[in-house]
Amino acid sequence: MIEAEHLSKRYGDKTAVDDLSFTVVPGRVTGFLGPNGAGKSTTMRLLLGLDRPTRGDARIAGRHYRDLPAPMRVVGALLEARAVHTGRSAYNHLLCLAQTQGIGRRRVEEVADLVGLTEVARKRAGGFSLGMGQRLGIAAALLGDPSVLILDEPVNGLDPEGIVWIRTLMQRLAAQGRTVFVSSHLMNEMAVTADHLIVIGRGRLIADCSTEEFIERSTEKMVIVRSPDAARLADVLAAEGAKITPEGDTVLTVTHMEAPRVGELASAERIVLHELTPRRGSLEAAFMELTRDSVEYGTAADPAAPAPPAASAPPAMPPAAPGAPDAAPADKGETR
Ligand code: ADP
Repeated sequence: MIEAEHLSKRYGDKTAVDDLSFTVVPGRVTGFLGPNGAGKSTTMRLLLGLDRPTRGDARIAGRHYRDLPAPMRVVGALLEARAVHTGRSAYNHLLCLAQTQGIGRRRVEEVADLVGLTEVARKRAGGFSLGMGQRLGIAAALLGDPSVLILDEPVNGLDPEGIVWIRTLMQRLAAQGRTVFVSSHLMNEMAVTADHLIVIGRGRLIADCSTEEFIERSTEKMVIVRSPDAARLADVLAAEGAKITPEGDTVLTVTHMEAPRVGELASAERIVLHELTPRRGSLEAAFMELTRDSVEYGTAADPAAPAPPAASAPPAMPPAAPGAPDAAPADKGETR
């Protein structure tokens, strides 16, 4: 369980986190969603005791991070998506971390295996790709077999295979009853990863609800209609309150009216239909709209973000698997 209560953080006159209250419960993946600069990393650093809140309270498993007797056994964190700069082998890197918390060699081997690092565990971690570095970071996070996992943008910079791997791992860890809190600025990624969403913009809470509910609430239903008599159909539907956007001579995009009603009205007027397809609007577009006023100046256009797809995918919930999580969070400090 993670709890934030009226959490606020100011850097000079900049408010990074603004009176944020939420609870993250075990047994599901909770996505922490917001545009770049929304305050996600700052919130995570506050949770992990790496920064002090200006106001409010952050607790993990009912305690402040600094009061946890063996933090790695309670919470595992992955804070920065970058390769590890170390001359040590991956195995030795994990072993050193483990020794600080009295964790044995066997667990080191277990986590290396769990994240698929066994083959390269003896190689120098400094030479790892970003994807391998991420796996090593996650192995470190899992060392203490913690019940809470905090992952900041874990899929950034990963190839599609790495993204699916992390997604599946997070879902397994949640299915084991752990608390999994993962941040992202990508709506579509969260839609297929998270069961629950906490959405923020400019440090403030925008939504705290199930992913399904968020999709239902945010995406407008529309109907695509194709007819050789589209112009007449448009008049008929508009007269009944539908909003029509013509797409060429034969296709209409209809909102404010459900597909069955469109079909009934067309039939009543003896208008031939060649297509009648209910659709949802793009989730990414809905998210951009929702957070538009809360995107920082200069960070609104994210060149790394993929183009919005035509329609949103429903949240897929792949099966569960074993594993265990924690990492020494990288300290970004007060300045950056
Ligand atoms: P996100 O993780 O959602 O991209 P951040 O938490 O990194 O957002 O940043 C939120 C805001 O706080 C941004 O405007 C950022 O520039 C500012 N900020 C974050 N850390 C610091 C810091 N150490 N000093 C000054 N400003 C900061």
